[in-house]
Amino acid sequence: MTERVGTEPSVFTRILHGEIPSAIVLQTDDVFVIRDIAPQAPVHLLVIPKTDAYADVTELAAADPRLLANMVAVAKAAASQAGASDFRLVFNTGAGAGQTVFHVHAHVLAATASPLGERTMTLGMPDGEEA
Ligand code: 5GP
Repeated sequence: MTERVGTEPSVFTRILHGEIPSAIVLQTDDVFVIRDIAPQAPVHLLVIPKTDAYADVTELAAADPRLLANMVAVAKAAASQAGASDFRLVFNTGAGAGQTVFHVHAHVLAATASPLGERTMTLGMPDGEEA
């Protein structure tokens, strides 16, 4: 299991509660979506469960696969809302893979102007690795 750092609310919980400004672009009963503050693609959204009970996607999948499925459905809706029918869905899992916020979230990455296979974006991979 991934270690948590302290017991403070995560940055995403603080955004959800309005303690840190960030527009919520889409939400359901259990999931919300914000724009990443440091976008790595023309469309870069974060799909986040409202609960902070799960540090990463492995914990979420084991405990609540329905919520994970809801996140995927919301990711598709959010990409569509942003004008993208095709998108990448990335769960950085563990610090060694670049995870910095241990409140599970999915990155939705899309290029609205041209297909994702073209060199229109770079993904934030750990140092020394290529996307
Ligand atoms: P991770 O590195 O854990 O996979 O992704 C965390 C993401 O949260 C990063 O891409 C980072 O830019 C984003 N992020 C961190 N703090 C904030 C914030 O205060 N507001 C927003 N909108 N995004 C944030």
